[in-house]
Amino acid sequence: MTADGPKIDRRGLLLVLSSPSGAGKTTLARRLIESDSSISSSVSVTTRTSRRGEVDGRDYNFIHAETFERMCDKGELLEWARVFDNAYGTPRAPVEAAIAEGRDVLFDIDWQGAQQLSEKMKHDVVRVFVLPPSHEVLEERLRARAQDSEDVVKRRMADASAEISHWPEYDYVIVNAHIEKSLAGLQAILSAERLKRERLDGLTAFVRDMQKAL
Ligand code: 5GP
Repeated sequence: MTADGPKIDRRGLLLVLSSPSGAGKTTLARRLIESDSSISSSVSVTTRTSRRGEVDGRDYNFIHAETFERMCDKGELLEWARVFDNAYGTPRAPVEAAIAEGRDVLFDIDWQGAQQLSEKMKHDVVRVFVLPPSHEVLEERLRARAQDSEDVVKRRMADASAEISHWPEYDYVIVNAHIEKSLAGLQAILSAERLKRERLDGLTAFVRDMQKAL
């Protein structure tokens, strides 16, 4: 028994966030991690070069294409995909350790990764798709990032449209108009999913012991 009541063991869950870029997913993910010490981010490996402000080992593990291929061949990646012109993948070992220890993991991965994780770890995955509030807002954000190159904006809009087409494959959808409201929604999803009977491995023993004493 702890101060919060009895401790019932549970499996960790895998919270997958996908969205087109420009929908505010990264901010939402960061805010969730800051607000909840029981969930941590999966750090992907990628062959792309780091952007200004990104930290190797925190935002991604930046690796060479040969290393990526070797990890892939050895089965060290739980899922992987080509997104734009680069390869991205989720290292398997930290995720499996987290689930077994009852820790939750947050994934910022695209629809291809979400599909692969769902196939491999169906009962542990919770999928959330983040939509922008309107096409105007999305375009505005993509323009700000692309710094006026019309070709780049057009390509990003097309990529966003392709990513958005996968929204029906997700368990939950958040339309991200207000970050605080979206964060509250995401926290509610996480709280409810943590209470799912199937995840509570320790429940059978807990109830059995209670019934024995009655
Ligand atoms: P960026 O290069 O902007 O950081 O990420 C580009 C896209 O790749 C984003 O949609 C992001 O969610 C996705 N992504 C990042 N890491 C992974 C990963 O490990 N696997 C998959 N499938 N997608 C990823």
